[in-house]
Amino acid sequence: MRVVVVEDDAGMAAAVVDGLWAQGFDRVDHLSHGLDLLTSHTGYDAVILDLGLPDVNGYLVLRQLRKVSSVPVVVLTAEGDELAVVSCLRAGADDYVVKPARVSELAARLEAVVRRWQATDYRPAIVVTGDVRVDLVARSVEVAGQPVALTQKEFAVARALAERAGAAVGREELMDEVWGEKNPSISRSLDVHMGGLRAKLNRPGLITTIHGFGYRWDR
Ligand code: CA
Repeated sequence: MRVVVVEDDAGMAAAVVDGLWAQGFDRVDHLSHGLDLLTSHTGYDAVILDLGLPDVNGYLVLRQLRKVSSVPVVVLTAEGDELAVVSCLRAGADDYVVKPARVSELAARLEAVVRRWQATDYRPAIVVTGDVRVDLVARSVEVAGQPVALTQKEFAVARALAERAGAAVGREELMDEVWGEKNPSISRSLDVHMGGLRAKLNRPGLITTIHGFGYRWDR
């Protein structure tokens, strides 16, 4: 599991980072400012967010983050700050841990929120990969802040892949979901729409072809 810890207290951050490494996490990065998270939240399975940060209150960071990402967030809060906890849960935090955080509890809560996030029936509202932003509810796609005009089928293909970002999606599954059936002519149509989608997004490497199987949208 890849986690980023946003915490300005160096001692606290070091204890959490070292503790999560010791728990066998794959990657544990540390940021000391809230705004840094808004520019570098991709590629993580979960975020640990302190509320008392030097630049921007963690609650405001969370609200901004939720406009662009559904990554699981566990908030670190001071003891007795129930109002802050409730505000954060309403703003989209997945869970919270009261400081001083016990690393074993933090790890368990992280694992639980990530499991829920990765559950098969989960469908995010917004998928952000690098500078590509897919809003599955508004049916819009932006690259580097600019809207990209996709055809209905191109968007349907993008959505089918983006909402399973990081997972391989078979061609047959794609055809079934986008066209409602699968046959050789639809298979050719998929190639055409995939070509159109890739050209319009212009982000080589975003959609990987898995030969003999299908495609994967990068996380
Ligand atoms: Ca702090």
